[in-house]
Amino acid sequence: MLTALAGRTAIITGGSKGIGRGLAKRFGEAGLNVLVVARSLTEAERVAAEIGPSASGFAADVRDAAACQAFAAAALERYGRIDVLCANAGIFPAARLDVMTGDDFDTVMDTNLKGTFLSVAAVLPAMKARRWGRIVVTSSITGPITGYPGWAHYGASKAGQLGFVRTAAIELAPWGITMNAVMPGNIRTEGLDGLGPDYFAKMEASIPMARLGGAEDIANAALFFASEEAAYITGQSLVIDGGQVLPESLAALEDLGGPA
Ligand code: NAP
Repeated sequence: MLTALAGRTAIITGGSKGIGRGLAKRFGEAGLNVLVVARSLTEAERVAAEIGPSASGFAADVRDAAACQAFAAAALERYGRIDVLCANAGIFPAARLDVMTGDDFDTVMDTNLKGTFLSVAAVLPAMKARRWGRIVVTSSITGPITGYPGWAHYGASKAGQLGFVRTAAIELAPWGITMNAVMPGNIRTEGLDGLGPDYFAKMEASIPMARLGGAEDIANAALFFASEEAAYITGQSLVIDGGQVLPESLAALEDLGGPA
């Protein structure tokens, strides 16, 4: 049983869909006030309404430093404190190298990597003032561990997040602030749904657990990183992928058997 976090405040960027929506709902269930951040206020408020009166929506683009400062200010104004940040907003448009433009590269980096930095920077004054904070970054297996054609820029941004986490965790340790990363495998989300049924079938065939994950799988790990009990864990990353990165080859998945 983890110490209750009820009454504290979590900010979830990219909280209106997919993994972020799962994070927002899980932290809401755990009794935290939740600020759901996305570019679309309507979508953010829709998820906040699903959670209840302890949640609210806020429109901000994490590529914009002033917008990140604004979501931090809104959390303080509405809830009086910031305890947890889930820096989760991210995009994964595909472009192979022969067609990838500098603008494509910049857009992915600005959202996924710089957006993580700007979100973290915005909440630090409030966390430092209380000498307590939990930051959970949503990275990926793609980049730090694996690759996939079309996602060179995406993989670079996700690997970059882990580099950011390691140094930031050192700088923040004296303040009682931890920073860790979750590394999802393939998780059913609105963003992933666009990749189509063929993608899902092939992915399921390459995962030892033979299914994609759910947002709740990521949210449960994030809630642990946010707990009091995780106070001595910082700068780390946790793969949550149903075993997807484990097989050495397709042969490792043949004739697995299992319960009838
Ligand atoms: P998703 O379903 O497409 O949702 C993305 C969320 O991010 C939405 O709430 C979106 O809302 C928000 N967002 C996008 N750009 C933003 C910006 N510039 N500023 C603020 N919010 C922004 O995506 P997802 O699949 O849940 O992915 C979420 C995170 O998990 C990403 O960091 C992704 O890299 C990571 N991840 C996902 C998977 C997977 O299998 N799904 C695997 C590994 C890692 P608006 O459009 O309204 O802004």
